[in-house]
Amino acid sequence: TVQQETHGFQTEVKQLLQLMIHSLYSNKEIFLRELVSNAADAADKLRFKALSNDALYENDGDLHVKVSIDKDAGTLTIADNGIGMNRDEVIQNLGTIAKSGTKEFFSNLSGDQAKDSQLIGQFGVGFYSAFIVADEVTVRTRAAGAEASEGVEWISQGEGEFTLANIEKANRGTEIILHLREEEKEYLDDWRLRSIITKYSDHISIPVHMFKEEVPERDGPDGEKIPAEPGKWEAINKATALWTRDKSDVSEEEYNEFYKHISHDFADPLAYSHNKVEGKTEYTSLLYIPAKAPFDLYNREHKHGLKLYVQRVFIMDDAEHFMPTYLRFVKGLLDSNDLPLNVSREILQDNKVSQAMRQACTKKVLQMLSRMAKNDAEKYQGFWSEFGNVLKEGPAEDFSNKEKIGELLRFASTNNDSDVQNVSLDEYIERMQEGQDKIYYVTADSYQAAKTSPHLEIFRKKGIEVLLMSERIDEWLMSHLSEYKEKSFQSIAQGSLDELDSAEDKEAKQEAEKAVEGVLERVKEALGDKVKEVKFTHRLTESPACIVADENGMTTQMVKLMQAAGQ
Ligand code: ADP
Ligand code: MG
Repeated sequence: TVQQETHGFQTEVKQLLQLMIHSLYSNKEIFLRELVSNAADAADKLRFKALSNDALYENDGDLHVKVSIDKDAGTLTIADNGIGMNRDEVIQNLGTIAKSGTKEFFSNLSGDQAKDSQLIGQFGVGFYSAFIVADEVTVRTRAAGAEASEGVEWISQGEGEFTLANIEKANRGTEIILHLREEEKEYLDDWRLRSIITKYSDHISIPVHMFKEEVPERDGPDGEKIPAEPGKWEAINKATALWTRDKSDVSEEEYNEFYKHISHDFADPLAYSHNKVEGKTEYTSLLYIPAKAPFDLYNREHKHGLKLYVQRVFIMDDAEHFMPTYLRFVKGLLDSNDLPLNVSREILQDNKVSQAMRQACTKKVLQMLSRMAKNDAEKYQGFWSEFGNVLKEGPAEDFSNKEKIGELLRFASTNNDSDVQNVSLDEYIERMQEGQDKIYYVTADSYQAAKTSPHLEIFRKKGIEVLLMSERIDEWLMSHLSEYKEKSFQSIAQGSLDELDSAEDKEAKQEAEKAVEGVLERVKEALGDKVKEVKFTHRLTESPACIVADENGMTTQMVKLMQAAGQ
């Protein structure tokens, strides 16, 4: 076996380390949250594996994290007795970044430290954040169920490389020893550490222990002797799973911190919803709407879904069965009392319990969003600009909630002449003119093209509002959204639009049409097979001619999309 070897970090790790050290200077203490969070994950993973192999506990089922300091050595140690890692896992987990979206992340960096520190936050800093405060990190770990001789020691200064060595490690789990930088010695202060841990890790479901020094024998107020208290490890966090607590006992800060733990996000969420459901199906859900879209939201390999627990035991990450794809940005967890502990992804696939929870969670999220839209339009606008295009997949995917999704849609419109998508269908309907019974829209490649579409002329003239759609997804959305609150949608580039004509208009139209009969004939001859028909129109006020799609045919925009897709 290899005793010691040196490995280079993956290039992205080197970049991330550089960035982190330089960008996160104003929020250094979060390294402790990240390391404690990893320890809690490691405990969850061990509990899960032990469900089918009790021996993994090695007679030590009391899972916890110990945080300790050595002032003389200048080190801070975070030790857990969770799942641990074998040599390959160490190389994989602490030498590379396996996350999807890594490429997008690095291509988004600007070199501007303030901006980039925001981005790193979205990306998640994780284990490597140890190097914000440490100039050397030692990880000693041994996987649950492995021999004591199969321990691994990983050491790095956080520059280009790390070394690996085989060690004896009697206790299962992972020990992370931070050799603090000279200027970061505040993290050797017992009180400071306690306050950081309560701030960030109160909600973690395993206890975080710190050593309470022995108190020597001393005199009481009446001269009696108070006996010495021996030093002991004591838990300094609440250590109850946050979602099992009563809503009224949990503060917004705690909900927000918990979000960061389960989502690996860095910023506060936009909204959350905590529900305990009793009755036919019993479960607790805790759902969050993030503030920022992850880099890989449109990536096929994007992992999404909820963290699944069964009777408080962690079962899996990214259970995608409880959220439709158009809500894939939702983060959170479900703790079911009805599913079996040995539940697998296959079982979840077509299971009554999971379907019921999916429906209920979908409703909850739509409700959360509609509440946000009503109560805090600005916040909702923020949500819309991050996730609106994902939500637009909704009507095609989720027929039963079409109307509710419809309420949440926002568009640019001729009403406000701005490319900001902030007009709801309800507002549009409120502004509809007397006798108008359709919702008019136009789709184009860009806002500019939509706004200057010649099809709009007649609508501008008559003061009828038109929704301006220019996102790729809009055409797809509109092909699945034929009506909203009994009003049908009408593309202004399609069909006859005869309904816009008043009686006078019709008369004038007939006269005008007669006058250009000859012209129409000549144009038809000239264009030949290229068009189905050449018609006189009343809808243009400035442009001489425009192309109109057949009522039942594809819109020109859809034709372009199909061509772009190679069809
Ligand atoms: P994340 O927690 O988002 O997966 P991190 O950078 O925090 O990313 O950690 C990377 C990986 O290293 C984890 O996914 C886990 O596999 C492993 N790891 C980190 N800390 C521990 C630990 N204390 N025990 C076991 N595995 C760990
Ligand atoms: Mg982590």
